[in-house]
Amino acid sequence: MLRRRLFHTLTHFCPRIQQTETSLLSGFPCPLQHGHRSAWHGTKSDVPDVRERTLIAVKPDGVQRRLVGQIIQRFEQRGFKLVGLKMLKASEDLLSEHYCELRTKPFYHSLLSYMTSGPVVAMVWEGHNVVQTSRIMVGHTNPAEAQTGTVRGDFSTHVSRNVVHASDSLEGAQREIQLWFQANDLLDWDCCDQTSTSDV
Ligand code: UDP
Ligand code: MG
Repeated sequence: MLRRRLFHTLTHFCPRIQQTETSLLSGFPCPLQHGHRSAWHGTKSDVPDVRERTLIAVKPDGVQRRLVGQIIQRFEQRGFKLVGLKMLKASEDLLSEHYCELRTKPFYHSLLSYMTSGPVVAMVWEGHNVVQTSRIMVGHTNPAEAQTGTVRGDFSTHVSRNVVHASDSLEGAQREIQLWFQANDLLDWDCCDQTSTSDV
């Protein structure tokens, strides 16, 4: 009953929600769960807290160069919340899915061998506008064009060794998070400073 009432509240404040009542009532699966706050115009008091998430991965060169801590620090410092983290050697299968749009590019095979050359640290970060903001924090794909102050602008010089990955859209983030993480790898937890960072 409570869930049904919640559903009506949701559709009242967000008529653009296309999900069926059944899917909404079964525990807020994606995309709502993974946060499309930009398509959501309610305020904190209107609706349950729905957060935007993105995939950030420190690539093998970043791990080898021991940059993981500095990269994590930038996202923490900015006010984002870490909700998933793992170190892995990514398989070719995973990477061919992850980079499926680049399969026809001339650099595709060297990209895959670079990405499988060592461990990757994959993370899910959550917060207001995190997809767009993290793209800005990471900087231009080609570090030679990346601004100083961005991760790529500060730590890299060549496009084929650009240290970090960041999802480029809400849809891309959702797809990539599901590819790299199981749902129960991700933690919902409350930051003590949440009202000054993400819930504003
Ligand atoms: N890349 C490359 N050479 C290029 C362009 C891209 O090696 O000329 C690699 C680089 O590691 C980049 C990744 O392919 O990060 C994915 O490319 P995309 O265009 O999606 O850039 P990103 O979203 O990472 O900025
Ligand atoms: Mg990309």
